[in-house]
Amino acid sequence: MNLPPLRDVIARHGLAAKKSLGQNFLLDLNLTARIARGAGVGPDSVVYEVGPGPGGLTRALLEAGAKVVAVEKDDRCIEALAEVQAVYPGRLEVVPADALKVDEAELLGGAKVRVVANLPYNVSTVLLAKWLTSETWPPFFSSLTLMFQREVADRIAAPPGGKEYGRLSVLSQWRTVPKRLFDIPPSAFVPQPKITSSVVHFSVLAEPVAPAELRDLKTVVDAAFNQRRKMLRSSLKGLGVDTERLLAEAGIEPTLRAEVLSVEQFCALARALNALR
Ligand code: SAM
Repeated sequence: MNLPPLRDVIARHGLAAKKSLGQNFLLDLNLTARIARGAGVGPDSVVYEVGPGPGGLTRALLEAGAKVVAVEKDDRCIEALAEVQAVYPGRLEVVPADALKVDEAELLGGAKVRVVANLPYNVSTVLLAKWLTSETWPPFFSSLTLMFQREVADRIAAPPGGKEYGRLSVLSQWRTVPKRLFDIPPSAFVPQPKITSSVVHFSVLAEPVAPAELRDLKTVVDAAFNQRRKMLRSSLKGLGVDTERLLAEAGIEPTLRAEVLSVEQFCALARALNALR
């Protein structure tokens, strides 16, 4: 389609990157197309994009045939995105807002969407937590395709048994299947960040891998990983129930440490906590 190069758009609209908004723009069209493919975006897709910026990834999503609803906090980008809207009439809705405060179900009116975002790292982990801990499940999205710093991507997808396995791994793997797709080097961004990024795709499970109340699961996971070097019989002491009994009810050896427990075992602990409280 006839859109000017992103570098021209950035120059013409004076989109000097703002550090406070974590702006590192992705200008490599091969990579933006690869993210759209990794998200499984096609002509019937509705995409919720967070932080379109000058619209590089947005263009790739539209090019793949999607309808896009995009939320952007930086008003300077809205004008630049109007040019993209003109080329894809009726297919791009731009909402000036802070994604942390958006009620997505209300904004998207019940449509099942694929969430795709290249966000500042601090915001993507907060949003990930917001989306994964949704009170209603299945949630408003069928998948998430998000960029993280590589170390965070490793933690999200880590299996039990290693030092990368933690709270983020359990919460991610309880209700979704996270998969690291590929890395993006600093040189692909303007300005260049200091770290390597990874794109992670999360497919939503209709049912969590094992039943548990979200609140109880968060409680046991937080307690267990807050003192990850300790045996569970000590790390779970602060939960206000008989720890030995809790572990017995869940069928878990009291001498184990948090990092060897599977997601199913954390769910068993959460159910036992719920029953004993
Ligand atoms: N998607 C563009 C790309 O790939 O080139 C821009 C990526 S840049 C890393 C992050 C974008 O998220 C910026 O446009 C920034 O203004 C926007 N942003 C940052 N915090 C946000 C928030 N809380 N809500 C919505 N957008 C936000």
